Amino acid sequence: MRTIDHFICGESSGTGSGARVHQVWNPSTGEVQAEVPLGDAALLDRAVATASRVQLEWAATNPQRRARVMFRFKQLLEENMQSLAELLASEHGKVVDDAKGDIQRGLEVIEFACGIPHAQKGEYTVGAGSGIDVYSMRQPLGVGAGITPFNFPAMIPMWMFGMAIACGNAFILKPSERDPSVPVRLAELFVEAGAPEGLLQVVHGDKEMVDAILDHPGISAVSFVGSSDIAQYVYSRGVAAGKRVQAMGGAKNHGIVMPDADLDQVVNDLCGAAFGSAGERCMALPVVVPVGEDTAERLREKLIPAINALRVGVSHDPDAHYGPVVTPEHKARIVQWIGTAVDEGSELVIDGRDFTLQGHEKGFFLGPTLLDRVTTGMKSYQEEIFGPVLQIVRAADFEEAVALPSKHQYGNGVAIFTRNGHAAREFAARVNVGMVGVNVPIPVPVSYHSFGGWKRSAFGDTNQYGMEGMRFWTKVKTVTQRWPDGGGDGSNAFLIPTL
Ligand code: NAD
Repeated sequence: MRTIDHFICGESSGTGSGARVHQVWNPSTGEVQAEVPLGDAALLDRAVATASRVQLEWAATNPQRRARVMFRFKQLLEENMQSLAELLASEHGKVVDDAKGDIQRGLEVIEFACGIPHAQKGEYTVGAGSGIDVYSMRQPLGVGAGITPFNFPAMIPMWMFGMAIACGNAFILKPSERDPSVPVRLAELFVEAGAPEGLLQVVHGDKEMVDAILDHPGISAVSFVGSSDIAQYVYSRGVAAGKRVQAMGGAKNHGIVMPDADLDQVVNDLCGAAFGSAGERCMALPVVVPVGEDTAERLREKLIPAINALRVGVSHDPDAHYGPVVTPEHKARIVQWIGTAVDEGSELVIDGRDFTLQGHEKGFFLGPTLLDRVTTGMKSYQEEIFGPVLQIVRAADFEEAVALPSKHQYGNGVAIFTRNGHAAREFAARVNVGMVGVNVPIPVPVSYHSFGGWKRSAFGDTNQYGMEGMRFWTKVKTVTQRWPDGGGDGSNAFLIPTL
């Protein structure tokens, strides 16, 4: 059995006898392929001690040299893209081309981090008062930590450590225990790119390790991405321990389809956004809201054959639209949600529960499911299913369509499909959701903007990556200076200085 070890100080650290382990599946075959040790507070202590030492020197390294490590790392990611994608797909279950997208979107944050000498510059005012100059600098926080979900094992770690490390911090990553290999491989490549050993370390674990991170006095900031209840817990506990915390949570993104939308385009976009990666994306579109009965009927008529034509396959099948879900437990949960939706009175138009893939009967596959006449009172509408399930919620008019995502507990992403610029503009301005797509089904912002939802989709107030990421991973110091010539300026030193 392969062991996916921690990555402490650039070395394999040994699991130690008696350590708890977690089994890592191959979702396509339904077999356990590796074990990952679940670390504890003592292991974290070692990592933090190293990180604290290495960080001092790294923070004193000039930003251009820090950026050069990022440039080299980006190059290594490109050179290793195929093997990283295959490794990622074998543990997550997403198809290999989609796994490349997972790596590429993280790589783009590294590209942004290559510009850190410019992004991290402070501000300067000459002559803020008589003979007085004021300047600010953005200094790193020290040791940062990231706790990441299973569904983007390359992109989300890079959102975090790309920015944190470029800004001069050391970083400890606690990836999902369900697909931990790629995060370790990224840390290895980072050392190969010229980063000092110990600057980026990976500790594996579950709640025990997460709690150790949240309580550790040597860690200044924690970035979390995962489900909302845990995000809220991480935020509260981390903040109570005096840390800076950003914690992104779950989602239930709506796609609004206006009567004038190009339905062929919408159906194509919806199939990808609802079923791609088996629906295991926080920016998936699991709810479609056709506006008006006529739109609903026309959409449904086109959706059914398109969904029935989707090809489910093993993650290395180049013709598959999507692969298996991540674990047997997750598959069981999705099946249960579909049952709940039916019990609650929604119409089961396409049932993906009994799908099996010939030759891979033990894999965690689910066919696509389509539910119609879903209403806001249903639990299956209110909660995140995180599987290949698309729900149709019919809205009478534009106002109702804006209200649906606005009132939902989650506010990660939303999309509107229309040819009417006024409706789109109005929607984007009014909807109570953090990321909006106009005829764009998955509006994940590019790396020089930033990512963050609203409501229960994010706790804390700073987004991931871009300039927001730079702000999260640095603190501002402002210097007010004068260089008197000895003559005095006649001011009364006992009064608060005013200008
Ligand atoms: P998860 O919440 O189960 O796990 C996330 C992390 O928290 C993992 O590292 C895990 O080890 C840790 N964890 C699990 N249980 C814990 C506990 N009780 N106490 C402390 N830590 C714990 O999430 P997941 O299933 O890996 O990922 C899917 C979820 O992540 C979905 O809800 C999805 O919407 C969300 N997500 C959100 C975003 C976003 O940016 N908003 C992005 C991707 C995924």
